[in-house]
Amino acid sequence: MSHAADALVIGAGPAGLMAAEVLADAGARVLVAEAMPTPARKFLMAGKSGLNLTRDEPAPVFAARLSGGAAPASVPAAPPEYFGQEELRALVRDFGPAEVAVWARGLGVELFTGSTGRVFPVGMKASPLLRAWLARLDRAGVVLRTRWRWTGFDGAALAFDTPGGAVRLTPAVAVLALGGASWPRLGSDAAWVPWLRAAGVEVAPFRPANMGFRVDWSPQMARMIGRAVKGTALSAGPLSSRGEWVIARHGIEGGGVYEIASALRDGAAGVLDLVPDLDAAALAARLSRSRGRLSVGNRLRRVLGDPVRTALALEWGRPLPEGPAALAARLKALPVRHAGPTGLDRAISSAGGIVAGALTTALELRARPGLFAAGEMLDWEAPTGGYLLTACLATGRHAGRGAAERLSG
Ligand SMILES: Cc1cc2nc3c(=O)[nH]c(=O)nc-3n(C[C@H](O)[C@H](O)[C@H](O)COP(=O)(O)OP(=O)(O)OC[C@H]3O[C@@H](n4cnc5c(N)ncnc54)[C@H](O)[C@@H]3O)c2cc1C
Repeated sequence: MSHAADALVIGAGPAGLMAAEVLADAGARVLVAEAMPTPARKFLMAGKSGLNLTRDEPAPVFAARLSGGAAPASVPAAPPEYFGQEELRALVRDFGPAEVAVWARGLGVELFTGSTGRVFPVGMKASPLLRAWLARLDRAGVVLRTRWRWTGFDGAALAFDTPGGAVRLTPAVAVLALGGASWPRLGSDAAWVPWLRAAGVEVAPFRPANMGFRVDWSPQMARMIGRAVKGTALSAGPLSSRGEWVIARHGIEGGGVYEIASALRDGAAGVLDLVPDLDAAALAARLSRSRGRLSVGNRLRRVLGDPVRTALALEWGRPLPEGPAALAARLKALPVRHAGPTGLDRAISSAGGIVAGALTTALELRARPGLFAAGEMLDWEAPTGGYLLTACLATGRHAGRGAAERLSG
């Protein structure tokens, strides 16, 4: 390969940078090609609202929750020669929360654990960590080329558009770490899907993950737009969340919604419990004490104690039953009346990508030996809140190791 490198990494997000680091540590001369003018834009964006790097959870718990909280036994094992959900779990058991924390501290970034077990840098931002990481990669001899856009295959070569014109490279090994399909303006635009499909690699269609849902609010909800919904429980299928969420102009969004989003997207009915800390009988008793004297709205306000939850009861609970027992049952199981998920352009992450069966356990493409893949471009999905970044780092490390092993022998 020209440009004096024997290993190529395409995509300078967390997965690609981790692969580059492992390859450099193994003694390879590494070139990282990044399409955007600067690296890791989505990683930096993730830091805007607090970079949730990982969770303070034992690795087996983390590994189980990675696939949406399903118990490990309920996930069918993939054929052992393929990279599947079980292999992903195995990777985060090998490089999981504890190892991510050691890695971040090794870059001089102190961490703290929030009340819900989420782990953040003390400064909350991604930029100090990224700066330290890029400096360490530079010291290790990794060459980063920005504005180098991979444009597909040219026979055995990988073709790039670069500021200096078209470039063709035939590295001994390459790691693709091009990201998924959410927030395309940050770089991961999934333009590679047809090139890999044409090369015989099966790629599952991308769908939004960790996203909001559209809701046609009635005019009465106008004054609630932008308000946070606290102290409720959302559930859909096997998933549930006590997290906060937000009433947005065109729907619902925020952590509590993202945690149940995959089941809601896949057709499970969404259920909102406005009073999760009271059982139906206790709630009915409270409702019956205020019965007769007050309008339904005032009764709800008195019992729910919050205008946002009252507005939601009136919006999604109508027609509200009169009797305390039936009203209590309704308030504990309001239907989430949505009109489908919001699009990929503002989803935190995506589902879909290179399917497990297209990969060896080393994350090498079966159809293109020598070419490895990592990060969100693989077909797995996880709840937000540290699972995504940890899995991207773990798969980047694993693909980098696989590529280094191929190089050495
Ligand atoms: C708003 C927001 C907040 C988030 N917050 C969190 C959080 O707190 N915790 C968490 O765990 N996760 C969070 N995430 C998700 C997390 O940022 C991603 O899962 C992660 O960045 C994916 O890493 P990746 O390396 O696979 O891909 P990416 O980070 O998308 O990197 C892929 C890189 O490949 C480059 N590329 C794409 N195509 C080409 C091409 N043709 N040629 C060359 N280069 C190319 C892209 O420009 C990009 O730099 C958040 C995401 C968003 C959008």
